[in-house]
Amino acid sequence: MKKVAVIGAGIVGSTAAYYLSKSPDVEVAVFDDGKGQATKAAAGIISPWFSKRRNKAWYRMARLGADFYQELIAELKATGIQTDFYQQTGVYLLKRDESKLQELYDLAANRREESPLIGDLSLLSRQEAQEKFPDLQGFERLLYASGGARVEGALLTETLLKASKAELVEKQVSLTVEGEQLLVDGRSFDCVVLAVGAWLGEILQPLGYETDVRPQKGQLRDFRLAEKTDDYPVVMPEGELDIIPFLAGKVSVGASHENDQGFDLTVDRTVLNQLQQEAETYFPSLATAEILGERVGTRAYTSDFSPFFGAVPDLPHVYAASGLGSSGLTTGPLIGRQLAQMALGEAGVLNPADYPIERYVEKKIPKENK
Ligand SMILES: Cc1cc2nc3c(=O)[nH]c(=O)nc-3n(C[C@H](O)[C@H](O)[C@H](O)COP(=O)(O)OP(=O)(O)OC[C@H]3O[C@@H](n4cnc5c(N)ncnc54)[C@H](O)[C@@H]3O)c2cc1C
Repeated sequence: MKKVAVIGAGIVGSTAAYYLSKSPDVEVAVFDDGKGQATKAAAGIISPWFSKRRNKAWYRMARLGADFYQELIAELKATGIQTDFYQQTGVYLLKRDESKLQELYDLAANRREESPLIGDLSLLSRQEAQEKFPDLQGFERLLYASGGARVEGALLTETLLKASKAELVEKQVSLTVEGEQLLVDGRSFDCVVLAVGAWLGEILQPLGYETDVRPQKGQLRDFRLAEKTDDYPVVMPEGELDIIPFLAGKVSVGASHENDQGFDLTVDRTVLNQLQQEAETYFPSLATAEILGERVGTRAYTSDFSPFFGAVPDLPHVYAASGLGSSGLTTGPLIGRQLAQMALGEAGVLNPADYPIERYVEKKIPKENK
């Protein structure tokens, strides 16, 4: 039996644990301390096709990540597991300058050849948009894509961890190396997957590594409305604001991107009130909706905003991923599966050379040994 430790039970760690557990020769233990998990705090929008980022490797990962949900869901359904965490209800994209909507339409129409998941694309008038999302206002026209989806990160990780039947240990742990032995929480493992998001630097620093990963605070507010929002599309105005309707009248409004708050997890109502105020200009019902609560999480960013994964340099049998930024619910499952494949010595659909871990994780040689 090969013993594998997965540290971190966010979207990357849970998917890795799920795929590792499918191998009959592998025993998996997952460690998570639950602090600040980005996955649980995420808005949950899966709609990468409208991004104008020039980073081709990122776009490939994001579009394949969106596609991968179809495979994961089909697989879970085939074994009788519920997949309520994912609904493809479409997205509404808004632009301050509505003449730019055509440009966005053309971009997505081109990309649809390699990503049929984008689905139907149409420019809708306000009245047409209100057929799917009553009372939505603050615009004349918007762009609709039927393939956009929303994901509840907390439910997704819960589903995958349960399906994996992996041992779950809820505590903060460190990784130590004694000779050839990898030790986590005092236990020896043959292989370790570091899926610790923004905390990669913290866990690798005692082993002599420097890591280019910084934290970004993200906050959002959850509401309960009397109306049924099950089939409402996600609304994406320009800027930080997104309005994400979920099942049974739950609607999330977010999310902030705060670069100067470190790992702080306190709710800042000023920031959230501002987002709510802006959201009400599009969806006035929010003003009288019940506030269910607020969520805060920590995203992980590299200095060039690129995600990475792979074998940790100079640390045999240890694999890591981080830097998923604000699109980690889109790319996370695919990365998690690929980490599992690497740990099992298998190839995945992404080329690790396009997301080189050695650019962001470096073992520092002590001065006296130079
Ligand atoms: C407010 C917000 C909105 C977002 N919206 C979207 C969106 O709409 N669409 C999208 O695609 N992405 C979105 N994201 C981004 C996405 O959530 C993240 O990129 C993704 O969840 C990162 O997953 P991860 O598994 O790498 O890390 P995480 O989910 O952060 O998981 C890492 C886990 O490791 C644990 N851990 C760390 N160190 C240790 C240790 N030493 N011992 C034990 N456990 C440890 C942490 O507690 C945490 O639970 C959003 C993020 C935020 C914060």
